[in-house]
Amino acid sequence: MKNARETGRILDALESQHPGADTELHYTNAFELLAATILSAQSTDQGVNQVTPALFKHYPDARALAAAGQEELEPQIHATGFFRQKSKALIGMAKALVEQHGGAVPADMDALTALPGVGRKTANVVLGHALGVPGFPVDRHVLRVTNRLGIAESDDPVAVEAHVTSLLPKERWTRASDTLILHGRRICKPKPLCDQCLAADECDYREALEREQARTPAKKKAKKKGAPKKAAAKTAKKQTHGSRRLRTTRR
Ligand code: SF4
Repeated sequence: MKNARETGRILDALESQHPGADTELHYTNAFELLAATILSAQSTDQGVNQVTPALFKHYPDARALAAAGQEELEPQIHATGFFRQKSKALIGMAKALVEQHGGAVPADMDALTALPGVGRKTANVVLGHALGVPGFPVDRHVLRVTNRLGIAESDDPVAVEAHVTSLLPKERWTRASDTLILHGRRICKPKPLCDQCLAADECDYREALEREQARTPAKKKAKKKGAPKKAAAKTAKKQTHGSRRLRTTRR
């Protein structure tokens, strides 16, 4: 796997490819970002951004949201999907903020993850973007890109967060996560656009793909146009779904 120096170099390249990477959720304070991030589960940021202006007008703070009824809240967030669970989580989160934190959003991982509907990824988003505490949110894009690049080797978000943050200085965490998310959305998609990737020279996945192509005889290549893709997919699957243990040596 990549060491700290190599990881830093890869992030330099990706940050230059995605300058100004940031969360795409719209918010003006920590409470709004917390609510928006809860709503973003199984939804797109753009979809969440369509419902939050009206939502935050109705419920500008934790006290207002804590007093809301589930039946009145559900239609307002219906478009983001899973509206029953989300309305329950939003009201529960707001009540806990009022009862335990005087209505403020705590700048602390343990206190945040103790709130209803708030997992480690959501807490890291809020800490890093709205509370000035370095955080490294790991979503499916971060998992895919870090495993392909050889920065991490696990499909466990907590293990990947622990490993990548051990390789980068704290001040890089939030931007690194934003950059990897954007790279996963735009370039390193499930079907990656490697020819457009500024980190391609350091990518294990691309290297495996090229090795496989070089091994495939020309005739077979012509017959099986999909073969290299399959081999790379196999490598990616191994990297993403293989051992949960983070290896310290390069395979
Ligand atoms: S080279 Fe391809 S697989 Fe590797 S990080 Fe870039 S886009 Fe993803």
